[in-house]
Amino acid sequence: MSFSVIDCHTHVYPQELSSGPRTWAAMHQEPHWGTLVSPIDRLSIQDWATPKRMLKDMDAAGIDKTVLLGWYWEQVDTACWHNKIIAEWVATAPDRFIGFAAIQPKERVSEQLSAAADLGLCGVGELHHGVQGFDVDSAGWSELIDWCSYHNWPINLHVTGSIGRQHPDAVATPHDEIIALTESGPGTTFILAHWGGDLLLSNEYQTSELSLPGNVYFDCSASPLLHSPDIFERALKIAGKNKILFGSDYPLRLFPGKQKQADFVHYLNYIKEETPLKPEELKLIMGDNFKRVLG
Ligand SMILES: [Zn+2]
Repeated sequence: MSFSVIDCHTHVYPQELSSGPRTWAAMHQEPHWGTLVSPIDRLSIQDWATPKRMLKDMDAAGIDKTVLLGWYWEQVDTACWHNKIIAEWVATAPDRFIGFAAIQPKERVSEQLSAAADLGLCGVGELHHGVQGFDVDSAGWSELIDWCSYHNWPINLHVTGSIGRQHPDAVATPHDEIIALTESGPGTTFILAHWGGDLLLSNEYQTSELSLPGNVYFDCSASPLLHSPDIFERALKIAGKNKILFGSDYPLRLFPGKQKQADFVHYLNYIKEETPLKPEELKLIMGDNFKRVLG
C-alpha cells in the first residue's frame, strides 16, 4: 500500500506461555486467559509469535508498525511481569513496535502505570472490566483515567458483542457499562476493540450517530471471526471514517479454515477484496487515524 499501515491491536505472548498455557494459567491464577487460549473442547485458534517472526509477518504484509497490547490479566503481578516482556519486544525494533501496558485497575494503579511509562510503553490495553472486576465507580478506574488523560495515553477496552458469531467463553461487557466507562473520561481517548461489540450494530446507535463521544474510536480486531464483511460499511456509516482503526488480534488465526499459522496477509486481503472501502477511507483506517490517536 502506498500509505503507512499500523495495526493497533496485536498481542505479545512470551514463549513460556505457549508450551503449556493451561498449566501456566493455573499456576498464575489466570483462569480466564487459560480457557480462552487453550480450550479443552475444541481446537485453539491462538497462535504464538516471537518478535522476529512477527516482523517477518509484518514485512510480508506491508505493515509498518504494530501496537503490542498486553492482556486483561486478573492479577496485578502478571500485568507487571507482562509489561517487562512487551518492553523487551519493543526494544528489538523500536521503529516498528509500539508498546501498550497490561494494567489490572484493581489496585496500585498509579504504580503500575508509572512502571509501564518507565519501560517506554505509551498506552493501556486491552482491559476487560468483566474479567478484571472493575466498573465506572471503582477508585482504580478513576485513578486510571485521570493518569491516562494527563499523560495522553489511549486505553483499549475489550468489548464483547451479542450479535454475530459468539465466542463460547466470552465474558459479557454490557453496552451501557462500556458507554459509562467512556463517558467518565472525556479527556481520555478510548479504543473500543472488536468494533465496540455491537455498538455499531444496535438500532439505538444507528439512529443517534451524533451521540458517539468524540474521544471514542473503534478497532476492527478479530472481525472475520465475528461478523460478515459488511460490518465495515455499517461502521463507516455510523462511526465515520475518522473513527475506525485497523487492528487484527494477531497472533490469533482469524481464518482458521485457511491459516495454519497466524499472519497479517489474509486479513489485509480480505479488507481489500471483500469490503468496498475507497482509497481515502483505507488510508485513514489503516494508519492515519491511529497517528492522530497517539498525538
Ligand atoms: Zn479483545
